[in-house]
Amino acid sequence: MKSSILLVIVILVSCTSTDQDDQNPYPQAHELAGNWPFAVTYEIFVQSFYDTDGDGIGDLNGITEKLDYLKGLGIEALWLMPISPSPSYHKYDVTDYKDIHPDYGTKQDFKRLVKEAHDRNIKIVIDLVVNHTARDHPWFQEAIKNPKSKYRDYYVWAKRDSIVQSMTKEELQDDSDNPTNWHSVEGDDELYFGYFWGGMPDLNFDNLAVQQEIFEIGRFWLQEMDVDGFRLDAAKHIFTDDRATDNHLWWITFRKEMRKAKPDVFLVGEVWSDAEEVAPYLEGLPALFNFDVGRAITSAVLEEKPGDLVQRHKEIQEYYASINPDYIDAIFITNHDQNRIASEVNGDLNKARMAASLLLTLPGSPFIYYGEELGMLGRKPDENIREPFNWVIDGTGTGETSWISPEYTTDTTVAPLIKQLEDSLSMYHHYRRFIDLRNNSAVLTYGSMEPVEKNTPPAVCAFLRIYDQDSLWVLHNLSRKEQELVVQEPFTKFKLPIFSDGSHTIDTVTKKIVLPPYSSLILED
Ligand code: CA
Repeated sequence: MKSSILLVIVILVSCTSTDQDDQNPYPQAHELAGNWPFAVTYEIFVQSFYDTDGDGIGDLNGITEKLDYLKGLGIEALWLMPISPSPSYHKYDVTDYKDIHPDYGTKQDFKRLVKEAHDRNIKIVIDLVVNHTARDHPWFQEAIKNPKSKYRDYYVWAKRDSIVQSMTKEELQDDSDNPTNWHSVEGDDELYFGYFWGGMPDLNFDNLAVQQEIFEIGRFWLQEMDVDGFRLDAAKHIFTDDRATDNHLWWITFRKEMRKAKPDVFLVGEVWSDAEEVAPYLEGLPALFNFDVGRAITSAVLEEKPGDLVQRHKEIQEYYASINPDYIDAIFITNHDQNRIASEVNGDLNKARMAASLLLTLPGSPFIYYGEELGMLGRKPDENIREPFNWVIDGTGTGETSWISPEYTTDTTVAPLIKQLEDSLSMYHHYRRFIDLRNNSAVLTYGSMEPVEKNTPPAVCAFLRIYDQDSLWVLHNLSRKEQELVVQEPFTKFKLPIFSDGSHTIDTVTKKIVLPPYSSLILED
């Protein structure tokens, strides 16, 4: 009897690394310069990241201090949530667009962060929140104190009577649960428009002076502060919902102005909607967040089967490419407005890991939300999806932030980074391995994608990534059960496993591949 040849592949994962030095306790990343924005970006809520002056609030110097950590993780850009002065903890309502919130530091601190980041080939993208200001912004304060001032027309006003006629008394009361967009000022016979709530009055973009102010703010950050780009908050609300075309045109104009200041400026927009509504923004905002793919990844790992994840992602990509061939698909699992993935999968780290494996092997430019690489937990309200990064055990006084007592991510629920660094099977090393794999693969970074459904077990997510003459066959077993498949034409050409995070077996005679539970295998031809 002829015995078959059984090839068992076990990739031994190791947390040791090359070039580690005494100053930098974190693993070093491979250099692969110049890929970004086709590389991984890391979103940071500054308040929760790392504190250097002992007040328990994260600061810009804290990010500078942790750049080596971020570099070691393999990311090539940071997106900082708002950093300008603001009355709120989240800072999405700005009172001074050209300054830094004192809790976070100074303009000098920011310049140092940008320089240190650039020295490590890490780009800096900041949140730009221009749809509305804070109610405390001097423009709005002037507008309500002096209706004859030029700042009155910086905002959107309407006669109380014209609005009131169509509203109930409750709707007119100004609180955050109020569904109305119109808000009152005591003693004023006009109401102002604030899409989100009364604390965020919308700017009037029909006023060209407002447009000029926004261009000036953009130029300030690009030229004086040397940022690489902006994440544009609430991009579809610049004009009211019935004026979508004006919204599209505004971002085209904005981009044109910003490119005069920095020709390669990166703009990524938040248009939280389905693909059809998102697509027309691509001309002005060549990078847009893909909310669909995050939803599809979450449901695939929860249900332990891919559903139409791959097919749908491919269709959206082709649709967007037909509108702007140079578009950048900003893919992510969840962001600061959504429950954290580890909580969405009810703390099942196998599933949270698989979400990362999918994200980092699909086409697009992946964005990772800070702490996702630790498996941080968090559910709404928003404060609890933005809890302190868990650096060490018993974090007090160690730079770990303490502005809020965490309800979800504690030392007992989520292993701190210091423990995960030592454990080659940790979530941190899982992220690092997949980011490293992607950073070193032109096929994963730039390649197109084809679903592979024929002969694929229902619990396996299989697809090809194709770039130039090269292709990869990517197989993810989403389930808790071992899965088998027999390799058939035309896949027999894929012989060489280039990546595996389990002990897969490939029988070279029977052509049977066995995939362990919750594991990934990538084969090259
Ligand atoms: Ca601080």
